Amino acid sequence: MKAGLRDLIMERMHILVQNAISNARRNPELAERQAILAKKMSMKYRVRMPYELRMNFCKKCKKFIVPGFTARIRVGRSDVKSIRITCKFCNHTYRKIIKKSSIS
Ligand SMILES: [Zn+2]
Repeated sequence: MKAGLRDLIMERMHILVQNAISNARRNPELAERQAILAKKMSMKYRVRMPYELRMNFCKKCKKFIVPGFTARIRVGRSDVKSIRITCKFCNHTYRKIIKKSSIS
């Protein structure tokens, strides 16, 4: 792969997912298409989607989910900081651990 192409793909994926998130409420169909495009790009160029983008895809049904819209976010109250993301399409809940920012 050409040097710099990977960066370009990364940037494009970010833009697509960000656009998809902002379009989700107004135009869910467009958002879905943009999300799928980002995913296809990731597969075609074998560029792994960064974590913050993958968070917007349900781990179970693989649908594009938007926090606060098609996904419910709950903050856990245990010692380990975590958030629970519930997909509104398949109702699957998964936990995301947020690393402690301060080391005690
Ligand atoms: Zn799901």
